[in-house]
Amino acid sequence: MHTETPADGDIVVRLEKASRVYNPGENEVRAMDAIDLEIRRGEFTALVGPSGSGKSTLLHCLGCLDAPTSGRVTIAGQDVTQGLTAAQRGEIRNRSIGFIFQSFNLIPVLTAYENIEFALQINGTLNARQIRERVDEMLALLGLTTQRDRRPNQLSGGQQQRVAIGRALAKRPALILADEPTANLDRKTSEDIIALMRRMNEQLGATFVFSTHDEHLMGHARRIVRLTDGRIVGEEKRVPAPESGSHD
Ligand code: ADP
Ligand code: MG
Repeated sequence: MHTETPADGDIVVRLEKASRVYNPGENEVRAMDAIDLEIRRGEFTALVGPSGSGKSTLLHCLGCLDAPTSGRVTIAGQDVTQGLTAAQRGEIRNRSIGFIFQSFNLIPVLTAYENIEFALQINGTLNARQIRERVDEMLALLGLTTQRDRRPNQLSGGQQQRVAIGRALAKRPALILADEPTANLDRKTSEDIIALMRRMNEQLGATFVFSTHDEHLMGHARRIVRLTDGRIVGEEKRVPAPESGSHD
């Protein structure tokens, strides 16, 4: 179709006329309404819009956690719209996608080290020594080496979100999705988390799509996609604000 597109291999996810309708019939909600969207490798993109505009639904469809009721979703060249079993969906997520949630969603009985290690064990592409090296490397990048043996309830909110970022990134997925990652954090901690996400984008080339209400986080995006009532109502490309730097 888009024969003029420079390098299709750079497209990580593509949505074509993707809609997600809840409660079809009288009380139907078009949480996504004929969305066309391409995410390319290396993007740092914000989904912005009021509560209920469809940000989470879109992220779930980008991440193969949900499927559109019509239209098409392609992840890493594979059509994932229909006909996949739950196990096949899980396999695509495990291989290609890392999630960061507003409420961190760490496993409470595992330490910081073990939460990241567990994601790599499930991923199954590294041997035991490689896993140890990768977890140590992530903890160092995250500035969490001295907190490695703490469980989530022994970590601050910002530290928990850093572990969650490490868990999402450790397997080097094609795509990192973050649903309002700074919503439960104070201002300064949010800035540290934003700086960390940007560093991971720039140093590891990780592709990020995140939803946010946070003006400050928005200011760091290179592309902003605005949603209202399940539709894309605007798009901007920008030069991101200079990094404020993390001050641990
Ligand atoms: P946002 O993340 O931007 O706040 P959501 O994607 O969560 O928006 O929701 C988009 C719309 O879809 C809202 O109107 C919401 O009420 C509706 N919605 C979301 N999930 C469900 C569900 N499981 N059942 C019915 N309606 C839903
Ligand atoms: Mg949401």
